[in-house]
Amino acid sequence: MPDKVMIVTGASRGIGAAVALLAARRGYAVCVNYRQRRDAADAVVAAIQAEGGRAVAMAGDVADEAQVVRLFQAVDRELGRVDALVNNAGVLDTQMRLEDMDAARVSRILATNVVGALVCCREAVRRMAPRHGGRGGAIVNVSSMAARLGSPGEYIDYAASKGALDTLTIGLSKEVAADGIRVNAVRPGAIYTEMHASGGEPGRVDRVAGSIPMQRGGTPQEVANVVMWFVSDEASYTTGSFIDVSGGR
Ligand code: NAD
Repeated sequence: MPDKVMIVTGASRGIGAAVALLAARRGYAVCVNYRQRRDAADAVVAAIQAEGGRAVAMAGDVADEAQVVRLFQAVDRELGRVDALVNNAGVLDTQMRLEDMDAARVSRILATNVVGALVCCREAVRRMAPRHGGRGGAIVNVSSMAARLGSPGEYIDYAASKGALDTLTIGLSKEVAADGIRVNAVRPGAIYTEMHASGGEPGRVDRVAGSIPMQRGGTPQEVANVVMWFVSDEASYTTGSFIDVSGGR
């Protein structure tokens, strides 16, 4: 039987790279999507291949609809029909109060975190739904605890984008449940990745660690484990659900 196929967006580093590595270990042929860092995506693919797994690095900015369409077409050709999509690509910008934000910044955040995820979901459903010749599938959205906490004084725009992603998860899960497509989301808390540098504070996780009930930040692997549970058959009756991976935060 051919490998199942998974697309992980923004998989050249951080949580996405951890998901790609774990998925390959679980037998998925993985599309390691990246926006700019071809070298980093190639390194993830090499690590997967070194363990005997199957992966391909594929460029595509999820904020650009035409590039998303081309990405999914490339997966059709090179890996086969997609079984699982992990909407992991996400961005945030410099920490600031809302009163200092301009619309261009907010639009940039929404273009990747909301519109990008939505268009990727659309392309996935067009392949997974039986009426399109598909065989069902699983979608996992990488949201954030920010959706619930609101990120005051840091990035309310980012938090709002993750709130929208949560609502997308609820709506789409109901819309495609009868098609055999499950849609769930993880809400990571403070995870050690390079994302915090984009906010202007690379050491942010250590700063907030003391306020986390478990008294530490999380690792990309700890998030990847939960993503892979949602994708697995063990979660066969679970859709429209959320798991906080936040050390109790
Ligand atoms: P990261 O910055 O290391 O990874 C994000 C990846 O997405 C990068 O590789 C980036 O190049 C890619 N990306 C960004 N915009 C893209 C686009 N338009 N098209 C394609 N790829 C794009 O950060 P991370 O922490 O690994 O983030 C992964 C996800 O986890 C994000 O959605 C983020 O919001 C979420 N998250 C992270 C944390 C945390 O504390 N690190 C907490 C909650 C949620």
